[in-house]
Amino acid sequence: MSGDQPSAQAGPAGPAFSCTVLTLYPDMFPGPLGQSLAGTALQEGLWSLSAYDIRQHGQGRHRTVDDTTAGGGAGMVLRADILAAAIDAASPAGDPRPRLLMSPRGKPLTQARVRELATGSGAVIVCGRFEGVDERVIGARRLEEVSIGDYILSGGEMAAMVLLDACVRLIPGVMGKEASGEDESFEHGLLEYPHYTRPREWEGQSIPDILLSGDHKKIAQWRRDQALHLTQTRRPDLLKR
Ligand code: SAH
Repeated sequence: MSGDQPSAQAGPAGPAFSCTVLTLYPDMFPGPLGQSLAGTALQEGLWSLSAYDIRQHGQGRHRTVDDTTAGGGAGMVLRADILAAAIDAASPAGDPRPRLLMSPRGKPLTQARVRELATGSGAVIVCGRFEGVDERVIGARRLEEVSIGDYILSGGEMAAMVLLDACVRLIPGVMGKEASGEDESFEHGLLEYPHYTRPREWEGQSIPDILLSGDHKKIAQWRRDQALHLTQTRRPDLLKR
């Protein structure tokens, strides 16, 4: 997909959750987001995605978008004027959607922020490349820097996909009623309890008896205990929060 054509439309007003991704690699989209849960929802018009090619605003015969870093050092930086022109074209004044910049310096993405975004009108997401973007455009276009973790990717595209995948599954109608996502890890500040399914016996291990007892109160208590124990041993930082 390239250009700024939405890949799905639902009625004249369009889907409630509409996303525009600014990237130097528009053909990377929808990519994995065109498959499975998110892909079906995209086809059904429950959300929309358009990839906007920043290079449309590049300069000269080669449509250059970057330049060397001021002060010296390795790597190139996405120019403020070019990125701002792309943002202004893809998300004109009055666009109510939050503007995000995928960035390892950003606030780490949480399920709470994902839920907030998923209940909004969508997002405009800027994907960095090279060493990143000129600092001035971040303030001037009020970009909210969002990180998906403490490691460095080669570009913001996969980070944007991670964020979108997390949001889209929470849009009403995307997941079945039963799988509302409310029990998942992080939703209650805890990691999720373990799951089991058939066969009842496998390689000498059986499903915990309590799960087969039919006693829903006891099962709920067991799950809470397991969730607490897992969180205590693996992610004590979550309990401190
Ligand atoms: N020089 C930068 C890293 C640039 S990586 C630094 O040290 O902070 C190139 C681009 O990949 C970034 O502009 C950003 O858009 C994206 N990116 C890399 N790691 C990321 C992460 N952990 N979360 C979100 N985006 C990331």
